[in-house]
Amino acid sequence: MRYCTRCLYPENHPLNITFDAEGVCSGCRVHEEKDELPWAERGQRLGQILESYRNQSGRNFDCVVPVSGGKDSHFIIHTIKKVYGMNPLVVTFNQEYNTKRGIRNLANLLTVFDCDQISLQLNPDFLKRLTRSSMRRFGSMYWHCLAGTQTFPVQIALRFRVPLVIWGVHGWSDQVGQFSHLDEVEMTKKVRKEHSLMGFDAEDMICAEDGITRRDVQPFIYPYDNELSTVGVRGIYLGNYIRWDSKKQHELMIEKYGYESAKQERTFNTYEDVECLHSAGTHDYIKFLKYGYGKVTDHASREIRLKRMTREEGIELVREYSHKIPADLPIFLKWSGMTEGQFYDSVNRFRDPRAWKKNGAHWELVDSVENHVKDPGVDRVRLEKIEECHFRITPSREPDAIEDEPILMGRSYLNKYNYKALTDAHEPLAPSLMGGLIS
Ligand SMILES: [Zn+2]
Repeated sequence: MRYCTRCLYPENHPLNITFDAEGVCSGCRVHEEKDELPWAERGQRLGQILESYRNQSGRNFDCVVPVSGGKDSHFIIHTIKKVYGMNPLVVTFNQEYNTKRGIRNLANLLTVFDCDQISLQLNPDFLKRLTRSSMRRFGSMYWHCLAGTQTFPVQIALRFRVPLVIWGVHGWSDQVGQFSHLDEVEMTKKVRKEHSLMGFDAEDMICAEDGITRRDVQPFIYPYDNELSTVGVRGIYLGNYIRWDSKKQHELMIEKYGYESAKQERTFNTYEDVECLHSAGTHDYIKFLKYGYGKVTDHASREIRLKRMTREEGIELVREYSHKIPADLPIFLKWSGMTEGQFYDSVNRFRDPRAWKKNGAHWELVDSVENHVKDPGVDRVRLEKIEECHFRITPSREPDAIEDEPILMGRSYLNKYNYKALTDAHEPLAPSLMGGLIS
């Protein structure tokens, strides 16, 4: 297979990638804009857009911001609320693969930024049924997460008549350079279906065999254009206006607001995916089983482009992480009610023959970037590394918690010092007042 001569992406990247005459991928070329565009001017442009949506009556929110509690959540709210002084409504779709650390980060976000929030928890049994169906039909355990997080905030924007939804980075531009930053691509139903839902929209999930009805999938139905136009809802991506550097942004959030990071099993990046038990685990393992590469390739490619890692260092990390079978797989099997055999049967049907070949009962990786360390042209397009790449692991706010199990919902306070559950004026409860809680 063909691999980018600068980063680690293969030609079978599911979001479509192209290579130029020097063998450099479209994602790397668009990424060069990060060092070329006048970002101060683009930040001012963002300010003008936001200003035009500021609610003048004082009776409504200025914008809707979808937030998971992990990934770029803190940075987005920091930017919108602290830098641009907007009043956002925070909207959360509960993916139900929550980690306790993710719940703590979400609670931290809501309180350090003093935000109003709306969240949606769907019927847990239905989500399991839907996930078994998406596994069987297209080998994905993450459809509901992607569809829910990209639909519910738009539905809320419509219902609350808030015309602006603010997303973080446009992943398809950042990874594979589908659009230039200058295109200022916005979120639409079409973008959502084609790029992030594997071509399966909510209506496609209706399935008599799995007992999934039109009514069941209503929470995933993207509002229709005529509904959106009554409020004038549009969705912008901050990454088109701010020079996106997820690592630097997370480090600022750790220092300023106490964002918690966590060690991950299948990648060196300790900042992203900490809110989800499976995103960097079984979900990523499925990606590896389908395409022959995983998140560690995404993360290393990004660091190579940001000049913090050499291509060779990235390939070493791919070698170290991408083959690991994640420890959360049994947890997912138990949650979903699938057997290990059903899991592998579901995924094996979608193995890309460019990456995998069946040899008897076993699957063999046909090719990997590990075989392409010294491809011709690599030195000619090499970016000079200008800094080291260290990801921090922060201490836990709840050191005694067992972290390796999912949690549907969490307490949004921990003790009197945390999260405004009690004001500072309160003294700790005396043991005698705590009834039977303490013997
Ligand atoms: Zn590349």
